[in-house]
Amino acid sequence: MLMLSTRGNAPQVSISTAIAAGLAPDGGLYMPATLPQFSPQDFADDTHLVQVAQRLLRPFFAGDVLAAQLDAICAAAFAVEPPLRRFGDHGDYILELFHGATAAFKDYGAGFLAAALSALPQGEKPLTIVVATSGDTGAAVGAAFHNKPNVRVAILYPDGRVAPRQAHQLGCFGDNVRAFRVDGSFDDCQALVKALLSDATFKQEVPLGSANSISLGRLLPQMAYYAHAALGHWRSTGTLLNFVVPTGNLGNATACVLARHMGLPIGDIVLANNANDVLTKFFAGGDYTPQPSLSTLANAMDVGAPNNFERLQYLYPDPAELRRALRADTVNDAEIRTTIVQAHAHHHETICPHTACAVRVLQRLRSAGSTGDWAVVATAHPAKFPEVVEPLVQHTIAPPPALAAMLARPSTAQPLANDVAALRKTLGNDG
Ligand SMILES: *Cc1c(COP(=O)(O)O)cnc(C)c1O
Repeated sequence: MLMLSTRGNAPQVSISTAIAAGLAPDGGLYMPATLPQFSPQDFADDTHLVQVAQRLLRPFFAGDVLAAQLDAICAAAFAVEPPLRRFGDHGDYILELFHGATAAFKDYGAGFLAAALSALPQGEKPLTIVVATSGDTGAAVGAAFHNKPNVRVAILYPDGRVAPRQAHQLGCFGDNVRAFRVDGSFDDCQALVKALLSDATFKQEVPLGSANSISLGRLLPQMAYYAHAALGHWRSTGTLLNFVVPTGNLGNATACVLARHMGLPIGDIVLANNANDVLTKFFAGGDYTPQPSLSTLANAMDVGAPNNFERLQYLYPDPAELRRALRADTVNDAEIRTTIVQAHAHHHETICPHTACAVRVLQRLRSAGSTGDWAVVATAHPAKFPEVVEPLVQHTIAPPPALAAMLARPSTAQPLANDVAALRKTLGNDG
């Protein structure tokens, strides 16, 4: 299948070309030319996440150089099945996506992207993956590419605006993975990466790849866990599963929307924002007005200009139609704290600040009379944010083993000015 640009001014390319490029040459984001249609019965024989991912992604890879390796790529990326557990009562569930290498959902997309890029024919010069992170992407990408041959990774993060454990993870890899702490916000980091990736001259000298949520190689695989959870729920209850998705750059939620489009048994999708409420304002009927990002307790969602909004607009060109497809709600820091305290007191659940946004939004939906079965998406393990969560639940949170191992390693990050010339110089000079 061919991939096209949301801006319509770029040649259509195969999926491996789109994955290797990240951004389309016209500045747009790649989208599949068509969305294949499935029914739940098509997955009757697929119980494991790996099988669901293979069947769901196969049409996109038809005719591509990676087609023969897709099954192996899925087996590498989806070995960890996310549990869908009951959370309290009334048909509330929690989909825990944080059981991978760096304890956040981004391990799935980053793992798929790394496996796909490694399976592609290698060029003479190493590929440089440049990635902007608001906290968790960089670690997931670093872990996925660490010590892979012929690839190096540059992680850009906003200095002082990621949680201490996140910062430690970002700087702990070494070898072919370097961390840069940028004097700016996440949106600045993202703008630097976009500027570099659209610099055709520089790319001749230093072959570049993207691992941000703009990459189709991360976006499409994220559909798999929604499909898997919704299919399991459908088989046991015969009903649609609705989702509340903690949202920043809109990659995770867009994957859920795509899965629903393709016929998976997914019902309503509601975005949970933190105080960065650009999307909440749009879905409430206002204009889409990107804003500078604000720092909140749910820092991986501190995004004022969500990249993937362009994909949603492409999918639903009519704003009224887009507003019917999705809803959004905003949760402030005080509510994040209260929700963490209450989830612990009432349900004995310890949740991270991002997951807390979704839990609070679901509480509001229930109070407003929403029925049906709902899953809040748990995007990170609470042990990544001990300075926020531990005082609220009044106990220490043991990091999962993979996270503990990373925290035990030394960590370093290089300072970087918020300036694309500085980035070009750093990445160009040292081969
Ligand atoms: C990245 C991230 C989010 C936001 O996901 P998007 O795909 O950017 O919307 C939410 N929670 C956590 C823990 C994250 O790391």
